[in-house]
Amino acid sequence: MTDWKPRTKLVHSGTRRSQYGEVSESIFLTQGFVYDTAEAAEARFIETGPDEFIYARYGNPTVRMFEDRIAALEGTEDAFATASGMAAVNGTLAAMLQAGDHVVSARALFGSCLYILENILTRYGVEVTFVDGTDNDAWAAAIRPDTKAVFLETVSNPTLEVIDLRAVSDMAHKVGATVIVDNVFATPVFSRSIELGADVIIYSATKHIDGQGRCLGGVICGTKDFVRNTAEPYLKHTGGSLSPFNAWVMLKGLETMDLRVRAQAETALALAEAVEGHPALAKVLYPHLPSHPQHAVAIDQMGSGGTVMSLDLSGGKAAAFAFLNALEIVTISNNLGDAKSIATHPATTTHQRLTDAQRADLGITDGMVRLSVGLEDTGDLLADVRRGLAAATAV
Ligand SMILES: *Cc1c(COP(=O)(O)O)cnc(C)c1O
Repeated sequence: MTDWKPRTKLVHSGTRRSQYGEVSESIFLTQGFVYDTAEAAEARFIETGPDEFIYARYGNPTVRMFEDRIAALEGTEDAFATASGMAAVNGTLAAMLQAGDHVVSARALFGSCLYILENILTRYGVEVTFVDGTDNDAWAAAIRPDTKAVFLETVSNPTLEVIDLRAVSDMAHKVGATVIVDNVFATPVFSRSIELGADVIIYSATKHIDGQGRCLGGVICGTKDFVRNTAEPYLKHTGGSLSPFNAWVMLKGLETMDLRVRAQAETALALAEAVEGHPALAKVLYPHLPSHPQHAVAIDQMGSGGTVMSLDLSGGKAAAFAFLNALEIVTISNNLGDAKSIATHPATTTHQRLTDAQRADLGITDGMVRLSVGLEDTGDLLADVRRGLAAATAV
């Protein structure tokens, strides 16, 4: 099974069949499990076997299928599924940190990740140092002998900075720190995070794993010891577990994820190449454009530029809004990795909470539009983006 290629793993790994021999994975929509005898109940609470369950907050057959399948793909020993991507981020950090611990984190983070590191962990006495994630010297200066963990998004949102995971992992491991990556933008399809040194890999399954905008979910991938002895006790007692129904949606999402994400990434690259240099645009940010500041790292680390690009319209907010309002296929929303192409104006939505100075520091301009590329026809999407750019030029 371990020598299966990713696409085979995505279809077959982790499958558990009931006595009926069903072809499609079952949804075990149950929170509890019965025991034949009182002695059996006692025994299960002493030691829960690999095919035994107690309560859905602790584990469930459908959830376990999803966990086993994503762990097989990612190349980690185990995985724990969570109610959302944020439950995975919070669960990982809260489960392993305590007052007095030191964490180094990249500054360019998804808003809720930044909130956990900046506002929650610090309330419980964890010291957090933020660095420019693309500056290896800044990581070297911030990581101390007592640093417990480093946290980063391998590709940042929405500026798509690519962090040199191998270099940061090497520095962290020299002091024994755990490397935790939020790998949403790299996607599980293009992830090489284990190979590059990550210890814990987190996904918001809401994005490419579902890929069709239906359910929230998340997952923590790591060693069996970390997942079952550190993450699971925290999550099963605090209630961040994934529902069996959502796990089933994610499990079926995994079957087609490789095909979807590769097609989306191919279209994203074609669009980025086609619109770069348009007079309405100050910049096109896409990791696999040669103009991207970390182009070489992106090629080495992902083998693809991913499904998301950011367009920086030179006419500021008015141009960005004209662009968005002229789109006929691409919808205005804030998910990403969806089959439907989605455009977002980070400055007024996902990153509205930040101060002007914080946004400037992260490179989020008023003219920036994040574009998550879906599964529509490339030509139709290009025509739609050109329609938006023409409207932006007219502002
Ligand atoms: C969406 C996202 C999250 C949060 O995931 P939810 O499933 O919405 O909780 C965390 N990190 C990144 C990079 C994301 O894009």
